Amino acid sequence: MSNFSEMADLGHEQLVFCRNDEVGLRAIIGVHSTALGPALGGCRLYNYASEADAVRDVLRLSRGMTYKAAVAGLDLGGGKAVIIGDPASIKSEALFRAFGRFVESLGGRYITAEDMNTTVEDMNWIRRETTYVTGASTYTGGSGDPSPVTAWGVFHGIRACLEVVYGNPDVAGRTVAIQGAGSVGYHLARYLHEGGARLIFTDISERRLARVTGEFGGSVVDGDDFYSASCDVLAPCAIGGILNAATIPLVRAPIIAGAANNQLDDEERDGAALEKAGIVYAPDYVINAGGLINVAAERNGLPAEKAMADAQNIFTTVKQVINKARSQGITTTQASNQVAEERINAVSRLRRLALPNARMA
Ligand code: NAD
Repeated sequence: MSNFSEMADLGHEQLVFCRNDEVGLRAIIGVHSTALGPALGGCRLYNYASEADAVRDVLRLSRGMTYKAAVAGLDLGGGKAVIIGDPASIKSEALFRAFGRFVESLGGRYITAEDMNTTVEDMNWIRRETTYVTGASTYTGGSGDPSPVTAWGVFHGIRACLEVVYGNPDVAGRTVAIQGAGSVGYHLARYLHEGGARLIFTDISERRLARVTGEFGGSVVDGDDFYSASCDVLAPCAIGGILNAATIPLVRAPIIAGAANNQLDDEERDGAALEKAGIVYAPDYVINAGGLINVAAERNGLPAEKAMADAQNIFTTVKQVINKARSQGITTTQASNQVAEERINAVSRLRRLALPNARMA
């Protein structure tokens, strides 16, 4: 399929190829939509098997960002960038600064951020060349690690699911199984522990398991036993694709609500399987929007407290999505996609009302 056909399929505005052989840079920036504002999304560094794989990934991920920002109520569009290469060997100051210059050349249509295999330090290099970057270190004026805000949003999304299922959002006395005790999993465990929840953990890192159980107590289960854990909530906070035809039949919990991106292996098939099994699923991009809310606050010069307060609103959004799904007999992901599309359509129509010196004409 040609690049233009793939862009048309997913509704993209712009795809930008960036090359600089001197620093080993091959990057692709995908701008899916600027209907609600500048396209914001992380920069992923990955050793793609082929150029076509990199294009497909940047198109899929940038579209996802449009939906995430729209449902979160932000004035942001959806974008993403990929740098092709081996994270172990390709990273350098010059590589990230060259990428930063390409970002700058787009004049703010795309704003970059951290993503898989890129760090706060890498954002600091990019920031030397462009202001269109978020998530740089706090000492450079950035908002730093977004994980505490992401986890705060997930915590409130879990409370919303508990209210729908049990009529009470309180986590006290509830049991939550967390897959992945990394950055988000750790902070989520902290909030849940402080709220009086019982915790179950699984992780492939013994070190991370020891840290969370040492601080918050709880028990540990082996990898696949996570899915059948006897608990109120499964909170996937590790990797994507874990809800699939093999794992969904194992689930005994009435709720799945966690931070991991792309939890459903197949959005349609697995979303429908969860609904059929009567399991309340909080769509990943709705419940994990705290990180994006955090960088949006940074862009607007707002303090960390404002980001936390906005992430708390994920409670209302998750409830709205679940109720919409129930009333229309559709999956929660279909419901959240509808919420996003309705907002994009309604707000972008406002552009018809011309303003003098409009900020976003
Ligand atoms: P992280 O790398 O800090 O933590 C991931 C944890 O998962 C690690 O402890 C790792 O050992 C563990 N893990 C990996 N594979 C596993 C497996 N097969 N089984 C069990 N544990 C496994 O990552 P993070 O920043 O905490 O992000 C977690 C998830 O949330 C990712 O999917 C990420 O894309 C998503 N997310 C994160 C943020 C954020 O603010 N950090 C925002 C939105 C979404």
